[in-house]
Amino acid sequence: MCGIIGYLGNREAGPILQKGLKKLNYRGYDSWGFGLKNKDKIEIIKDVGDFEKLDNLPNIKSNCAISHSRWATTGKISKENAHPHTSEDNKIAIVHNGIVENFQELKKELLSKGYKFKSETDTEIICHLIEEYSGFEFPEAVRKSFLRLKGRNAIVALHQDFSGLVGVKNGSPMIVGVKNNSTGEEYFIASDQRAFADETKKAIFLDDNELVVLN
Ligand code: GLU
Repeated sequence: MCGIIGYLGNREAGPILQKGLKKLNYRGYDSWGFGLKNKDKIEIIKDVGDFEKLDNLPNIKSNCAISHSRWATTGKISKENAHPHTSEDNKIAIVHNGIVENFQELKKELLSKGYKFKSETDTEIICHLIEEYSGFEFPEAVRKSFLRLKGRNAIVALHQDFSGLVGVKNGSPMIVGVKNNSTGEEYFIASDQRAFADETKKAIFLDDNELVVLN
């Protein structure tokens, strides 16, 4: 069981996600990571081991970011296999909870199309699938990719050229938090409400096969 938390709003995402991820500690994890979007790129920070290292992360300015604590199911415990995973052009980053049951079949298909893999995870295939659908708007590309997955999965995806976050789930929990402050609206998306309970009590529980676009 892993943890996901994403943030979109007008505050610095890094500290909000660090705090949120720590609240998901109880779920167990072997590695962790962050994908923080700034003007030029999506910065990825990830590592194996415990959350204590989170207190010394570089300060990356971002208002739109995702984070993850991994419980390895497909691929060993390693920094390369920690989430987020990225597309070949590094424009797409995703965090994932679950197991893609048809991962071998999809990986074979993507390898035959020339995609190169940086990790051993089932998660990375989802990034390449989204790349495959790059002719579509980002939320639609995520939707089409998600429909190809078998198993109980939840993902949150980020694209360098898309303003916002896309989340979708089937069989794995995903909850959106909404907070109104004096300067606008903020959104949280997590696998457990307690990741953002200190910020807002306004929560929307996604149904299976429901996709949400936060922007
Ligand atoms: N199957 C994915 C992996 O092994 C996600 C595991 C999880 O839910 O933490 O990386």
